[in-house]
Amino acid sequence: MSMVIEKARQALLKYPLCDHCLGRLFASRGFMMSNEERGRSIKNVLFMEALNSSSGTYDEALLLALARSGHRESLMFLRRIGRDIKPQVCFICGGLFDRINLGAIVAKVKELINTSGIEFSSLQVGSTVSRAIIDNEVKVSTELGITSSESIKRELNRIIGKALVTELGRQYSRSNPDVIVKVNAMDGSVSVEVMPIYVEARYRKLLRGIPQVGGNSLARVVSEFMSQLKPASTVIHVAGVEGPEVRVLGSGRPMVIEVDRPLNRRIPAMGGVLNGVQLFDIKLANKSRVREIKSRAGELRRIYRVLVKLQGSASEEQFKSLEDYFTNRQVTQLVGRERRVRLVYRLRVRPVSGGVVELIVDSQGGFSVRRFINGEGTEPSIPGVLGLGAVPIEIDILNIAG
Ligand SMILES: [Zn+2]
Repeated sequence: MSMVIEKARQALLKYPLCDHCLGRLFASRGFMMSNEERGRSIKNVLFMEALNSSSGTYDEALLLALARSGHRESLMFLRRIGRDIKPQVCFICGGLFDRINLGAIVAKVKELINTSGIEFSSLQVGSTVSRAIIDNEVKVSTELGITSSESIKRELNRIIGKALVTELGRQYSRSNPDVIVKVNAMDGSVSVEVMPIYVEARYRKLLRGIPQVGGNSLARVVSEFMSQLKPASTVIHVAGVEGPEVRVLGSGRPMVIEVDRPLNRRIPAMGGVLNGVQLFDIKLANKSRVREIKSRAGELRRIYRVLVKLQGSASEEQFKSLEDYFTNRQVTQLVGRERRVRLVYRLRVRPVSGGVVELIVDSQGGFSVRRFINGEGTEPSIPGVLGLGAVPIEIDILNIAG
């Protein structure tokens, strides 16, 4: 007797199991076969094993076990020899597969979708069953040392998923669904969870006085841009931080926008300027991009333009030697408790008027240009090398790589 058949025999002698639950114990065996078909086939083979027609004997215990598990031919055979056996409810699922009403589940999902107006093209099913079912399932597998089984949730997800995909005309997605249809298999109740979408974009801040988050902020403008998707909320994940007074120009700064529970999933052709913020290079991304752009923020080389008020006067020669000094120069900054070492690749100084100079600073990412200029926690710094106090008046980011 094969391993599958022997294990199945042991299982049925111990527990009444429906075709689904028996078949599921051997789910990794076979091909293009539902668990129900597999379970039924196994019961048929066991029935043949139980009846030895050449000798005219039969294995009564096995026939009783099969009949108890609802095997029709076993029930009929036993009835013919005067044994009227009542099938018992499945030890694992308690008859769940007979009770489950796919039509009603599909109808409820349809209604939910229609009333809420959710747009989606792919779905996944997440079903729940009682704790007792899970426990019984594990009990049977472990007692019999079966490692080929599949979980009941997986089978339910597949059966319900198939029905929904056919009825709704959408795709099933295991890895990246637009919605997750949650089904409580015990009472047939359903809910639809809309998955977030991730939109990658770059922004320019053309005006000063715009913080990244808070009132009248970049985040506020972004949520305005995203309102066409009708989300519950939006969150921005920005590659780096700039102060409210810092403009971001040139190539802009990258960010990922997390759009939570959008009713509409088509990214509109956005762009344009709103409250001094411009979004561009907008494209669909995925969740992993959030971590990527955040972790890379410190590496993104950037160019600043800073207007600086010097507290005293300096000569052209001093400016020239300042530029020479800050060529590929390592600068150490204390930011909170963190000691950061960053490279200043290049510095250009252009006197404007009345002690005001314009600096162009080309540096590594994660570098505080403000501290570099006022000298706070920075070594070497502009005031340190120049021997003059310096105050940044205006800061613009001209370019951020990456
Ligand atoms: Zn069952």
